[in-house]
Amino acid sequence: MNRDCLFCKIADKKIPAEVVYEDGRTVAFLDINPRAPAHTVVIPKYHSETIADLPDAEVCPLFLAIKKVADLLVKSLKAEGLTIGINQGRASGQVVDHLHVHLLPRFKSDGGSSVHGVVHNPPEESLQEVARKLREYKDKK
Ligand code: AMP
Ligand code: ZN
Repeated sequence: MNRDCLFCKIADKKIPAEVVYEDGRTVAFLDINPRAPAHTVVIPKYHSETIADLPDAEVCPLFLAIKKVADLLVKSLKAEGLTIGINQGRASGQVVDHLHVHLLPRFKSDGGSSVHGVVHNPPEESLQEVARKLREYKDKK
């Protein structure tokens, strides 16, 4: 628990939210500024800024909660699809520094795009070159 963190306060019921799912490790609540019907954010109760900071033991509970909430949203809204996303870091649009996973129910007529629509900044190098650099980095670690 980080006392200055908005989503920790929601998890701790210090700030109200429209909670749609909760278990011992996670909470899911409606986004206060919805971009889609029942736009929901799923958070770990453990305070971490990013998925990298989240202890391994919390990762599986978070993904299980995402799976349950995804099922709830799709079935209850009869959604035709679902976009699942994390904004990580300011460059990606992260505003609240407590890891949260957006679930956006999707409909063919909603005018939105796929995750491919969030950026168009393809590398100048070949895929082989990019993969070689990543493998080199991994092998050095
Ligand atoms: P981001 O950090 O850009 O991934 O998004 C933060 C999200 O948190 C935004 O979609 C906000 O609308 C949402 N948000 C901010 N404050 C609250 C709140 N008190 N209750 C529910 N959602 C919130
Ligand atoms: Zn927090």
